Amino acid sequence: MAQFAKVVLERNLDKEFDYLIPDSLLGVVQVGSKVRVPFGRQILMGFVSSVMSHPDYPDCKPITEVIGKKPFLDHHLLELARWMAGYYSCPYETALRSVMPEAVRKADAAHKEKLFVTLKKPLTPEAAEAFPKRSRKQLMVLQYLQSHGGRFLRDLMEETSTGRSSLDALEDAGWIIISPEAVDRDPFENETFLPSSPLLLNDEQKQAFLTITQAITASSPGVILLHGVTGSGKTEVYLQAMDYCLRPRQRRDCHGSGNSPLTPQTVERFKSRFAESGTQVAVLHSHLSAGERHDQWHKIHEGRARIVIGARSAVFAPVRELGLIIVDEEHESTYKQEEAPRYNARDVAVMRGKLLGAAVVLGSATPSLESFHNAAKGKYTLRSMPKRIDDKKMPLMRIIDMRQEALRQKGVHIFSGRLRDAIQERLDKSEQTILFLNRRGFATSMVCPKCGHVEMCPHCSVALTYHRGKNLLACHVCGHKAAPPQDCPACHAPDIRYTGLGTEKVEDTLAKLFPKARIRRMDSDTMTRKDSYRETLGAFRTGKIDILLGTQMIAKGLDFPNVTLVGILNADLGLHLPDFRAGERTFQLLTQVAGRAGRGEVEGEVIVQTFTPFHPAVQFARHHDYQGFYEQEIGFRQELKYPPLSHVILITIRGTNDDKAAFVAQSLRKLLAQNAPAGAILGDAAPAPMAKMKTYFRYQIMLRASSVLKLIGHVEAVLKSFTPPEDVLLTVDVDPLFL
Ligand code: ADP
Ligand code: ZN
Repeated sequence: MAQFAKVVLERNLDKEFDYLIPDSLLGVVQVGSKVRVPFGRQILMGFVSSVMSHPDYPDCKPITEVIGKKPFLDHHLLELARWMAGYYSCPYETALRSVMPEAVRKADAAHKEKLFVTLKKPLTPEAAEAFPKRSRKQLMVLQYLQSHGGRFLRDLMEETSTGRSSLDALEDAGWIIISPEAVDRDPFENETFLPSSPLLLNDEQKQAFLTITQAITASSPGVILLHGVTGSGKTEVYLQAMDYCLRPRQRRDCHGSGNSPLTPQTVERFKSRFAESGTQVAVLHSHLSAGERHDQWHKIHEGRARIVIGARSAVFAPVRELGLIIVDEEHESTYKQEEAPRYNARDVAVMRGKLLGAAVVLGSATPSLESFHNAAKGKYTLRSMPKRIDDKKMPLMRIIDMRQEALRQKGVHIFSGRLRDAIQERLDKSEQTILFLNRRGFATSMVCPKCGHVEMCPHCSVALTYHRGKNLLACHVCGHKAAPPQDCPACHAPDIRYTGLGTEKVEDTLAKLFPKARIRRMDSDTMTRKDSYRETLGAFRTGKIDILLGTQMIAKGLDFPNVTLVGILNADLGLHLPDFRAGERTFQLLTQVAGRAGRGEVEGEVIVQTFTPFHPAVQFARHHDYQGFYEQEIGFRQELKYPPLSHVILITIRGTNDDKAAFVAQSLRKLLAQNAPAGAILGDAAPAPMAKMKTYFRYQIMLRASSVLKLIGHVEAVLKSFTPPEDVLLTVDVDPLFL
């Protein structure tokens, strides 16, 4: 009987198309196959989403060709994409796009090939004896190949100091074969990893390990939340759990998603641990080239790599027999994709685990309120590791009230006396310091002292930041750049001032205060080359830098034993944003940054400068009291019906004409109010916190309800019946992280 396939085309169409599977391809075309099909006059690439015996469309054209020996996607990944499309309210095709990297979808991309040399016939002692004397060199090459087996041409030439012409001569004489061989474009090709052995777990680690291994073997494994303070040994637990998962009896593969950017240190730890067993570790993150990504993906798909580590999209890695998914730093907002499909990789991981029956571990020193709430309700299993390894003390946190300091120093200065002294002390003792300020540039705004004019971005509702090194005003939202004016553009007063602190200014001041110190700034302005991140961390590790100053880039995952002081220059920066997660984020940031101190032998000290020293986020972080923070924060969320006590859907309406966008927002708001599900809370159609962004005027409508599925259904139904004017754009964000 004839068979038909539904195909999702490599086009932004919210629809699948039916094709006939020709006899020659019966059994070859399967769900998940990558195929070429006729479409109009073109031939397009697509993926088979289902196979059936009756088409929904009468005159189906046949599939032209199948690409690859086996299907690219298994049915679980297709099912996951289907779920994402429904949950995050986007076309199936858009969801599929995330599931497969572009480098794999688009490419016919053959593997990269390198020339490989092998002996055509064995070199017998007689043949060696008979070799012409003047060709001693060629004989030596043959002997070398005989003892080493095959070699890549380049390596062989280098190792035996032989030219290409000699090798060609050997090939012509029928001694060797030079042929192309597929190689993986491997980002870590030139690195060797020293094998590392498992450490003896302490009691808390053992508990966590046992819980995870039990889950791996259970029929419905569920989700484990591993709440462990920085330095409690979570990574060691992950490593051993992964090793367990790979044992023959389990026959399961695993993958961990790391925080992005994936630090070189993390990659090294995983590669080293599995170096000896020969288990291949694939790495997937956004800094790979298309070729590297293509090859890493196929290495996983073919089952050659059984461990995958990576950033957000690694959650879709085509691992064959997935047994364990680890989401480290699960609270990180980088897990949320800011464009469609607006998925959160942590939540996708939980769903994938559920679909496949794989264990899921969420780890963090500061779990998101969502995850901790799920654990409190008993939906997740909670394991805590409240102490650092070897009972190393948590760093001492000192809160400096900058209001008092301003009185003392007669004005607001970047450094409190206390922090200045502490830095000097470290310099004297040859210990290292990390300073943190989450804002780059020299000054965050240009103000006229006479008329109060602030120079704004013409496209966005934010002030332009002054970058002194490049002598530029720049918008940190859209990238707009302008030359700094000599006098005030509004009133032409001659002396304009720069206010608001950025890392560039701090660097400048540091150099004046500590002229002998070796200072390095790490933010997206200085980390422009591909390897500058690694280079800087390397220099810091080997003690070539005394003070490392940076933005959130330095907050995560770094482990430097000689850092005994961490200074947080302005803890208040994120605290007053109009977002219900502002407190949670500040608590997380303070805790994470503080976790960088005292990882070695010497106890660490953290100095936090703030104008709101009694804010709960600051006080609970100071006492390393996650539980306390959670309890007070969950009360507030409960009262105002914010997540995790509800789900949020945020609809953004934007257009280049302000009035039109506002009008559309109002009309949509009215429609949404009709037949809204019981208990849903519908916000006003109001200007977004950043009312203008990249030339668009933006309005938002926030909906909240405890049943997210009902709410999604309602929004989808309304949007189906609502057609905005062409120049007004709508986006729907389910479970947004930023308002
Ligand atoms: P986390 O991931 O929770 O921040 P790590 O796994 O990085 O913690 O552990 C912190 C440090 O303690 C690392 O240097 C690690 O090698 C070491 N460590 C972890 N577990 C043990 C153990 N059981 N015995 C000795 N050292 C350990
Ligand atoms: Zn701008």
